[in-house]
Amino acid sequence: VIAIGAPEHSVVTTCAYCGVGCSFKAEMRGTTLVRMVPWKDGKANEGHSCVKGRFAFGYATHGDRITKPMIRASIKDPWREVSWEEAITHAASEFRRIQAQYGRDAIGGITSSRCTNEETYLVQKLVRAGFGTNNVDTCARVCHSPTGYGLKMTFGTSAGTQDFASVDEADVILVIGANPTDGHPVFGARMKKRLRQGARLIVADPRRIDLVRSPHVQASHHLQLKPGSNVAFINAMAHVIVSEGLVNEAFVRAQCDWAEFEAWARFIADDRHAPERLETVIGVPAAELRAAARLYATGGKAAIYYGLGVTEHSQGSTMVMGMANLAMATGNIGRPGVGVNPLRGQNNVQGSCDMGSFPHEFPGYRHVSDDSTRILFEHLWGTALSAEPGLRIPNMLDEAVNGRFKGLYIQGEDIAQSDPDVQHVTAGLAAMECVIIQDLFLNETAKYAHVFLPGSSFLEKDGTFTNAERRINRVRKVMPPLGGYSDWEVTILLAKAFGMPMSYNHPSEIMDEIAAATPSFAGVSFAKLDEIGSVQWPCNEAAPLGTPIMHVDHFVRGKGRFMLTEFVATDERTSRKFPLILTTGRILAHYNVGAQTRRTDNTAWHPEDLLEIHSFDAESRGLQDGDLVAIESRVGAIALRVKISDRMQPGVVYTTFHHPMTGANVITTDYSDWATNCPEYKVTAVQVRKTNGP
Ligand code: SF4
Repeated sequence: VIAIGAPEHSVVTTCAYCGVGCSFKAEMRGTTLVRMVPWKDGKANEGHSCVKGRFAFGYATHGDRITKPMIRASIKDPWREVSWEEAITHAASEFRRIQAQYGRDAIGGITSSRCTNEETYLVQKLVRAGFGTNNVDTCARVCHSPTGYGLKMTFGTSAGTQDFASVDEADVILVIGANPTDGHPVFGARMKKRLRQGARLIVADPRRIDLVRSPHVQASHHLQLKPGSNVAFINAMAHVIVSEGLVNEAFVRAQCDWAEFEAWARFIADDRHAPERLETVIGVPAAELRAAARLYATGGKAAIYYGLGVTEHSQGSTMVMGMANLAMATGNIGRPGVGVNPLRGQNNVQGSCDMGSFPHEFPGYRHVSDDSTRILFEHLWGTALSAEPGLRIPNMLDEAVNGRFKGLYIQGEDIAQSDPDVQHVTAGLAAMECVIIQDLFLNETAKYAHVFLPGSSFLEKDGTFTNAERRINRVRKVMPPLGGYSDWEVTILLAKAFGMPMSYNHPSEIMDEIAAATPSFAGVSFAKLDEIGSVQWPCNEAAPLGTPIMHVDHFVRGKGRFMLTEFVATDERTSRKFPLILTTGRILAHYNVGAQTRRTDNTAWHPEDLLEIHSFDAESRGLQDGDLVAIESRVGAIALRVKISDRMQPGVVYTTFHHPMTGANVITTDYSDWATNCPEYKVTAVQVRKTNGP
């Protein structure tokens, strides 16, 4: 129960929404949460907060919470409440039956970026050591997997380079495909403060986001790219820097592989990357591109901040490497005020990746085929482990449709709303014989589940989240789990029933195991976190108090590696039938699929997803504000109300994906990043027509 009244005591914990990772004092009256007060000693937020973390916590005790385990024989049957013991025993025996019938690799698991590091670690451990397969994946598959790939290839580690405080020293801020004031509001406010102090701003985004023009902030350049042209854009910027002699040769010679740089410089100097050759592809005049490149290269300390507008493309990984090339070529790495900084989405998406949620990597981003790492985990977990990378989420669904993948354990993830081409997702889920959902609510995915295990909110557990600046923050239990168990305890129950006992009395013991097996976490413990508040990995003997800025004297991989980033246009093209490009994003009031914020007063601000459309496209279709339109792509159709907006460019429309009834992912396609399968949410060819009903 959440009620108004004078607080009696407080518990410091971490917001469960975005990757900023704000610290809050949860003020309590008995076991009742009275209010969330931003904590002034929180290093990520320094006493600031946004409307989500401050006010939108009522979902935790919402009447929709499922607090009793449930099972059913088929997805056509009604749910039946059962004891924890019956639900867990049934789930484990179904998974054992499937493996006996179809083979070890016919099952898998999906970890949650909403859950703690410790919970994520346990799920991947259960899948690898208990199920005996590497079929484990995470929602980063659909957001920042290209970040993991691109930054590891170029710099040697799958994480952002800077702490948030670094922006206070930036002279030039390049924001690409991110909307920090809506998506990461507390960091967005910090960025705006620096801009008000005089830092110059370049925004590269198809939509005119708030940062472009807001009180006391005016971007020097808004490069209103055509969706799908990111790599052409970053190559044009690099071409200017190389061809106009703006490379920081001293930095490159000292820190990067010189031979690879020379090969890259020859590649990028080719005339096909010149702004004049690419301006119609990019949709920005060549002179504007040249001016922006010169500002980035010569304007002082230059920092790149980016979001899903970079990663969720067929060339998402290429674009991440293109940004890394730009930063290395200009020496904008390894000191305050510079860097390449992904604004990670969910509260613990960084942590879920760190903890080994990918099918090819153990905790700490070490490949499953690496013998020494695998032997280390075999000794630690007491069982033989597979050296073969497992299935990614889209491959699990493909295999399910093909009859070869039969069972999935999903902790805190709603793939039937969040993943692209929903029809394919639900076909895959419907083809499975046992889907186990562990969640707060009966979400869209639960419609295809056979076992429902009540999850626990961030208020009901101990553990840690890792934010976008690699900062490990403590999550502290504020109230008992409504279902009786925290998520980590549920995974332990499932593991035991599956025949793989795990013995942890507290999440601190799980972190101790993580630290023992993961060099970048070797110095992390709950005792240290409780003493100093938080710490940024790597935290080990060499850096006992953590690492705010990475790659200071040398890159993690040794020498920085320039990668050739050829632009390849997406196969998703406009046509006479589908003449507009749809792109998607978030707004301040809501978070992702809205499972939490839709169950708070934030829904009153934004009760439905809207389609933003430029006045030119609206007039040519006879549309006015509030009209209902059908939006059709080659994979599906939805209906939304129209909002005519000068934030858009002609030919591009935009919507959010917070409400399941309008389901933007019904129309997004199955195209994905070539390296990681991250879906191409940001480019969908559509037609928009006035309609009278869905
Ligand atoms: Fe929570 Fe992010 Fe808002 Fe901070 S900025 S309060 S972490 S949603």
